[in-house]
Amino acid sequence: MECRSNCGACCIAPSISGPLPGMPKGKAAGEPCLHLLEDLRCALFGKPERPAVCARFQPAADVCGSSRDNAIWLISELEAATA
Ligand code: SF4
Ligand code: SF4
Repeated sequence: MECRSNCGACCIAPSISGPLPGMPKGKAAGEPCLHLLEDLRCALFGKPERPAVCARFQPAADVCGSSRDNAIWLISELEAATA
């Protein structure tokens, strides 16, 4: 599937355990990434400093769901199941 605009759920809902630029300890689940822009796009997209974990992530129906709210819920469920 294509990444939907005005979403950003995968930059908020999951925890990221590895370092991100400006976030050396990564981020907690539910915490917006420092690099998530107001329009919910990634400020580091296409830049070499974008973390590999982000570059590897591909939109998929079982994670992204049918809407932003659905994605937040699905990712939060996955997060809780793997905590
Ligand atoms: S959760 Fe999926 S649709 Fe939403 S921004 Fe991330 S990749 Fe795109
Ligand atoms: S670096 Fe970009 S893609 Fe990765 S979590 Fe932050 S905003 Fe999202």
